Amino acid sequence: MTGSTRLIDGFHLVVDALKANDVDTIYGIVGIPITDLARVAQASGIRYIGFRQETSAGNAAAAAGFLTRRPGVCLTTSGPGFLNGLPALANATVNCFPMIQISGSSNRALVDLQRGDYQDIDQLNAARPFAKAAYRIGRVEDIGRGVARAVRTAISGRPGGVYLDIPGDVLGQALDAAAAADTIWRIVDPAPRQLPAPEAVERALQMLAQARRPLIVLGKGAAYAQADTVIREFVEATGIPFLPMSMAKGLLPDSHPQSAAAARSLAIARADVVLLVGARLNWLLDHGDSPQWSADAKFVQVDIAPSEFDSNQPIAAPLVGDIGSVMSALRDAVGAQPIRVPTEWTAELAERAARNDAKMRERLAEDAHPMRFYNALAAVRAVLQENPDVYVVNEGANALDLARNVIGMEVPRHRLDTGTWGVMGIGMGYAIAAAVETGRPVVAIEGDSAFGFSGMEVETICRYRLPVTVVILNNGGVYRGDESSNGADPAPTVLNARAHHELIAEAFGGKGYHVTTPAELCSALAEAIDSRSPSIIDCELDPAAGVESGHLANLNPTSAAATGKVSAGA
Ligand code: ADP
Repeated sequence: MTGSTRLIDGFHLVVDALKANDVDTIYGIVGIPITDLARVAQASGIRYIGFRQETSAGNAAAAAGFLTRRPGVCLTTSGPGFLNGLPALANATVNCFPMIQISGSSNRALVDLQRGDYQDIDQLNAARPFAKAAYRIGRVEDIGRGVARAVRTAISGRPGGVYLDIPGDVLGQALDAAAAADTIWRIVDPAPRQLPAPEAVERALQMLAQARRPLIVLGKGAAYAQADTVIREFVEATGIPFLPMSMAKGLLPDSHPQSAAAARSLAIARADVVLLVGARLNWLLDHGDSPQWSADAKFVQVDIAPSEFDSNQPIAAPLVGDIGSVMSALRDAVGAQPIRVPTEWTAELAERAARNDAKMRERLAEDAHPMRFYNALAAVRAVLQENPDVYVVNEGANALDLARNVIGMEVPRHRLDTGTWGVMGIGMGYAIAAAVETGRPVVAIEGDSAFGFSGMEVETICRYRLPVTVVILNNGGVYRGDESSNGADPAPTVLNARAHHELIAEAFGGKGYHVTTPAELCSALAEAIDSRSPSIIDCELDPAAGVESGHLANLNPTSAAATGKVSAGA
C-alpha cells in the first residue's frame, strides 16, 4: 500500500450505498458492531432515530416504507437486537410494506462451528422464513451490490421485508476509495410499471358491466400504490359502490357518496361481482366464503403478485400489474364500455347505511358515566374532523374495532393500524415514523394493553420532540378490566384501571392529561394537536366497557373445561 492511497471502510461504504439509493432516515438501536455505522450515517446527513427496543424501530421502518414507497431501514446489533427486529420484519413482509433490516453479526467462523461467540446466532438463516429475502454481505467490495439488491427486492413486485446481514469484520475492512466508488450504484426504476394485458382488462370490464350488484374493495395495497387520482376517477366514472379496508380508508373520503362502509355486511353479503384492488381475500375478508359472501359472487382482482389469485376463491378476471397501470387501463377503457349500476342496488345500500348511521349517532350521543369507548371516540372524532390531515395510528381490541368505524378518514394513507396480522405493539413505532416522515401531527388511539407493548418509545417521541399525541383508552385490561379472579392475583385479562399513563409523558418532558369526560378529552386533544409536541391523554373508561376479543370473539376457541367437556383439573 502506498502512503498516498486513500482508503474507505465498510461503515462508510454502507452509508454511501444507502445514500446513493435515497435512504435519508435510519431507525435503530446502536451497539456492537454497528454503533459507528449510525455515527457515520448521521455525520453524512442521514437522519438517525434511536429507539428503546428494536421491534419499534423495525415497525417505524415498515411504516416509513408504506408511507413513502421507499424501503424504510432498521438498524440493529447482532444476536438479541437482531431477534428483536424480526417481529417487525415479519410483520412488514406480511403487510407487503418495503423495509430493510440491517443487522451487524458475529464472527462467521466462530458462529458456524458453534464455538460460542458474543451474541452468536446464525442470523441469515434465522431471518429467512420471516423475510421476502435474506442476504449476507461477505466481502467489503460487495457492500454496494448487497444494498442495491436489498433495495430492489424490498420495493419491486410485491413489496416486503428484506434482511441484510453484515458481519462486524466486513464493516471494519477497507478498500481503496477510488476503486470502492465503482462498487456502489443507484438502482434504476426500482419498482417498474407492469401493464395488464388488454384482454384481461376487457374481461374484467365485461364482468363488471354485467353485474347487478357490483362492489369495489380497496385494500392497503391500493393505498400504498399512490394511484389515488386514477382510482378515484375509475370509481366515480363507474358509480360502483366501494368499501375501503381499514388502511385504505381515506383513499376516497369516507364521506364519499359511493362509500358502502356504513353498509359493509350487506355489501359483502349481496355483491355479485367484486373488484378487489390491492386487497387479499384473507381472513380479514372471510376468505370470500359464504355465508358472509354470496355463494355465487364472482371476483375480479387487481394485484402485482399473480400467485395471489385463486388463493381462496376462483378469480374470474385476474388483472396482474401495478395498481396505477391497471386502474389507468380500466379507467381509459370504461369510457368505451360504460357501466351502469342498477339503482336498486345503490338504494338498498343507502337505506342500510342510513339505518346504521342513525344507530351509530345514537351510541355516540350517549352520556355514560364513567366514560365508555363510544363516548371517548365521539370526542376524538369531533376533534379529528377539524384536523383531517392528522395521521391516525390505531391499535387495541375494542379500541381498534370501534375507532375504525367511528373515526372517518378523508385523506389517503393517513391511517396506520394493526394490519394483516392484527398485531399489537405497532403503535409507537408507526406514530414515530408518521411524524418523522411527514412532519405532520399524529394521534395514536391506543387500548391500554396495546400501548404497553411499545410504551417506552414515548421517551423516543419526547427526545426527538415529535408532534405525537397518544390517546389511551384505559379500561384497565386486555379487552376489559373488570374480571375477578379466585385468588390473590389479578385475573389474566386485568391491568390497572387506575393507572395514570400520562405521567409517562411527563417523566420525559412531554405533556400529560388525565380525562374522565368527553368534554375534557375534546379540549385536551385539540390543545395537544395544536401544540405540535409530545403528549399522552389517559382516558379513564369504565372497566366494564369492552368485549372479549373485540370483533374477533369467533376466533377464540371455547374452553372445553368451561363447557364441561373435561374436568377443570384435567
Ligand atoms: P388489506 O389488508 O387492506 O385488505 P392486503 O395487505 O391484504 O390489503 O393486500 C394488499 C395487496 O396489494 C397484496 O396482495 C399486494 O400484493 C398488493 N399490492 C401491493 N402493492 C401493489 C401495487 N403497487 N400494485 C398492485 N398490487 C399491489
